[in-house]
Amino acid sequence: MDSENHLKDRTLYIPQMSYEGAACMAAAFRSIGINARPSPDGNEKTYELARKYLSGDECLPEAITLGNFLKVTEMPDYDPDKVAFMMPTSNGPCRFGHYLPLARKVFRDRQEPVLFLSPSSKNGYKDIGRDANELVRTGWRAVVASDILRKMLHKTRPLEESAGDTDRVFHKALEQVCSAIELQNISHEQRLKSMINALTEARDQFRKIPLDRSKKPLLIGMVGEIFCRLNTFSNDHLIRTIERHGGQVWLSDVAEWVWYTNDEQVLNLSREGKSISFGMLGCKIRHAVMRRDEHRLLAPFHKDLKGWEEPGHIRQILDLSRPYLPREGSHGEMVLSVGKALWYHQKGAAGVIDISPFTCMNGIICETVYPRVTRDKNGFPIRIFYFDGLQADMDGDIEIFLELARYYQQNNKGKGNG
Ligand code: SF4
Repeated sequence: MDSENHLKDRTLYIPQMSYEGAACMAAAFRSIGINARPSPDGNEKTYELARKYLSGDECLPEAITLGNFLKVTEMPDYDPDKVAFMMPTSNGPCRFGHYLPLARKVFRDRQEPVLFLSPSSKNGYKDIGRDANELVRTGWRAVVASDILRKMLHKTRPLEESAGDTDRVFHKALEQVCSAIELQNISHEQRLKSMINALTEARDQFRKIPLDRSKKPLLIGMVGEIFCRLNTFSNDHLIRTIERHGGQVWLSDVAEWVWYTNDEQVLNLSREGKSISFGMLGCKIRHAVMRRDEHRLLAPFHKDLKGWEEPGHIRQILDLSRPYLPREGSHGEMVLSVGKALWYHQKGAAGVIDISPFTCMNGIICETVYPRVTRDKNGFPIRIFYFDGLQADMDGDIEIFLELARYYQQNNKGKGNG
């Protein structure tokens, strides 16, 4: 599919893992002239619409993604000839590879000619058309910017004096950052500068939020399946529940996954004996460019995110995971979740929560590993929360977990989390 022809006059809906991530990615598409916006938010209607087409084998993120696409069909001005959905795909055992075929089938059965855009590095992003390279770079910056804003939100909100202040600043900041991302016909350098300006303005607004310094929230790391941990609807707004009970959450971000897949590519090239090759050179250059962009976008937040730094290289996380789940034998999110849980432990968190969709292999494997991590780390509490789309009252469970975390912190005060 060539976007220049096929996406003309269509609105492209970006699936929401996090709202901010989808908003920034939609802005990145708009920067190359594609009319994009986040797919609708999840709510009860999401399940109601998706349920008709599900067999019961689908994971929660698949059901939500489909349901939210179907919500577009309920919009008063819906015209299938004017709609496209972005739906990346993958091979392998994870059900992520089923999303696209299922969504295609559903719309085919409904006889609605919507388009699906499935950009992939394997086909050189040819779905995007001639601006693919431009979009890939802007898309990475969009990921970094949305990760930063989310982190500022989670770090600040538990301390706010007046409820709602941080959410207001966050939404305003997101709008401003999106306006900087979506500028058209400017150079990479100009876009980066305008994003840095917008982020600096956002930082200043976050700094102005009146805080109650007497509050001492308990730092909780959060890992788990990428969609479910980032999509607040699918995890029943668990972070807000934790905050209500006196916690402060450091959530694993999206950039981590991007660094991991890049590093896997490097490793695969080495395994194929291509350590010295154009492919490897391309990886190294891309890595350097991405890292440089990331540093520049993060620079204004040096003080604000002190203590909440991400590792300088994804291999630090993979090395932490190695005694439990070595990357050579296990793949994907389970390795990152275990390694990141240990990273949070080193950084002084009082406990870790892993968010997993019900029946997802990643969570199930991690759950078998965590008791050993807890034992090795002097009782460091780690708990998995499973989500299946049915609402449950989690207040009691969170209260108990935070009590455990508080107990762990008190008993390990001054001992360091090495
Ligand atoms: S990781 Fe699990 S929940 Fe996520 S798409 Fe794959 S199977 Fe579904």
